Amino acid sequence: MLVLCFDAGSSSLKYAVFEAGDGGERELLAETLDVNAPVKDIFAKLAAKGISARAVGHRIVFGGMHAAPVVVEPSVLTELRGYVPIDPLHLPSQLRIVDEVTALVPVLPQVLCFDTAFHRRMPEIAQRFALPASIDPLVRRYGYHGLSYEYIVSTLDSARYPRVVIAHLGNGASLAAVRDGLPVDTTMGFSPLGGLMMGTRPGDLDPGVMLYLLRSGEFTIEGLDHLLTQQSGLLGVSGTTADMRELLARRSGDRAAELAVQLFVYTAAKFIGAMAVTLGGLDLLVFTGGIGENSEDIRRMIGARLDMFEGMETRVILTNETCVIARHTWRLSS
Ligand code: ADP
Repeated sequence: MLVLCFDAGSSSLKYAVFEAGDGGERELLAETLDVNAPVKDIFAKLAAKGISARAVGHRIVFGGMHAAPVVVEPSVLTELRGYVPIDPLHLPSQLRIVDEVTALVPVLPQVLCFDTAFHRRMPEIAQRFALPASIDPLVRRYGYHGLSYEYIVSTLDSARYPRVVIAHLGNGASLAAVRDGLPVDTTMGFSPLGGLMMGTRPGDLDPGVMLYLLRSGEFTIEGLDHLLTQQSGLLGVSGTTADMRELLARRSGDRAAELAVQLFVYTAAKFIGAMAVTLGGLDLLVFTGGIGENSEDIRRMIGARLDMFEGMETRVILTNETCVIARHTWRLSS
C-alpha cells in the first residue's frame, strides 16, 4: 500500500512516499520543500509520476496525552487546535497540511503520529514537575523526538540491552532512558526548549533567569521567546553559528566555538549520567540525529566522560521518523 508521509518542521516541509505492508516499509521518494508549500502542488507532482497514495500520515510534534497515533477526525483536530499556544512553532503548519489534504481528497484516511506519544508510558514521577497540584494539569513533562525513539527501539534487542539511553543529537537534541523497551525518562519537558543544550535553544535553565530578564525590562515575552528558541545554544555561545560541523572545524582558533562545543558535550554527558540513574545502570548508549550519526568527534568526547559505566556499549543508529509514520499509517488505515 502506498502511504504519503508529511513531516513539517518550523521552516521546512518534508514529504515521502512509502510502500508499506506486512513485509515492512520501503521509501520510494522524498523531497523537502518550504514549509508553506501548498499540498495541491505535491499531489499534482505525485499524480504526474503516476503515484496515488491510499493513506496519509502526519508528524505532529505535540499531541497532549495521546499515547498512540490516531485517525483524523473532527474532535481530535479541535483538541489539537487548543494546543497551538503550547507549540506555536509547528502545530499551525502541521494542521494546515491536514486541512488541505482533507479539502483535496476528503475520503483519504489520515493518521496523526505524535512526537510526545512515546513518552506517555513513562512513570508518572518522570512526568511531574514540582509545582502545586492546582496548576493547570496540561503543565507536565511531555518529552519530544518520540518517533525517532520509537524507530531506534524497534531496531534494538531489549533482552540483550535492558538499560538503554538514546541520544538524539541534531539541531534539536534530547535523551530518552529506555528500560526493557519502555520509556522511563527523557530530558525535554513541557516544551522542546528544555534538557540538553541545542543548536539555538539553551536547554535547562534556572526559571529565575527568565524572571530576572523579564523583570529587568531587558526582554518582553516575545523577546524572551526569540532568545530561547532562536538565539541561544550553540549559536548563542559561539556567537557565530548553530552548525556543529562548522564549530568543530573552527574550534582550534576560536575560543567561543570551542566553548560552545565543550558546553554541548559536558551537558550531554551530565544528562546521560542522570538518565542512567533512572535506569539503575547503562548497558547501551545509542547516538542518532545529525550530530549523533555523523560526528565521531562529539561521540568520542561524550564517551570519554562516561568511563565509569563499565560494560556499556555504544552504537550509532540512523533514525527514520517518516518510516515510523508510514508504519502506523498503514496499520491504522489498512
Ligand atoms: P534537525 O534537528 O533539524 O533534524 P539534524 O538532525 O539534521 O537536525 O542535525 C543537524 C546538525 O547535525 C547540525 O548541527 C549539523 O552541523 C550536524 N552535523 C551534520 N553532519 C555533521 C558532521 N559530519 N559532523 C558534525 N556535525 C554534523
